[in-house]
Amino acid sequence: MKQLLLVEDNDMIVKGLSYALRQEQFQVHVCNTAREAENLAGSVVFDIAILDIGLPDGSGYDICRYLKSIDSELPVIFLTAKDEETDVVTGFDAGADDYVIKPFRNRELLSRINNALRRYKKGGSMLTSGALSFDPDQGIVYRDGVEVPLTALEFRIVSYLFQNQGRTVSREQILSRIWDISGNFVNDNTLTVSIKRIREKLGPESVITVKGLGYRIEKGGTSK
Ligand code: CA
Repeated sequence: MKQLLLVEDNDMIVKGLSYALRQEQFQVHVCNTAREAENLAGSVVFDIAILDIGLPDGSGYDICRYLKSIDSELPVIFLTAKDEETDVVTGFDAGADDYVIKPFRNRELLSRINNALRRYKKGGSMLTSGALSFDPDQGIVYRDGVEVPLTALEFRIVSYLFQNQGRTVSREQILSRIWDISGNFVNDNTLTVSIKRIREKLGPESVITVKGLGYRIEKGGTSK
């Protein structure tokens, strides 16, 4: 499931759009203010962001710059009633990938979202860590060049750690990103067991425990 950040202070739009996006299998994280969005960006890794520009406590332009400073590969689409050329230009200057003017049609926005996601997917390349390589496009983990079968849950954890390669992520961050086969968030104990299984499959050094902070997959290495 793709993690989508929707920053919008109009409840009507939030309701309609969240519903449409959930139907399309997006996990929608709604924020009504700029502050909420910036806080959430610290704990969730998004796949795409949809931003209103006029917010009660700030502007979507600033959120866009902030999100891009954390993750320059994050696709951002502005959704706004501001249709002046200068607004559009400011939006693209802030790093936006697309700009949709209200009122909008859900289907059109959805297809623009999918386009933006596709654009970023290209150029996705193999990530390596020690003897491991991870192909984000194919969703495959290799150990010494051999594909390692992982359960869906193990894969989500490994994939999240690779997305944050070289950075330590907390157990809470991981827990906020993973769910079991029936779509429920998993508990602490399940995470512990999964990490143990991942190490059995990928090697004891694959996932490093950072005491009191969380877990990390190291960058680079000598993968074949
Ligand atoms: Ca607004």
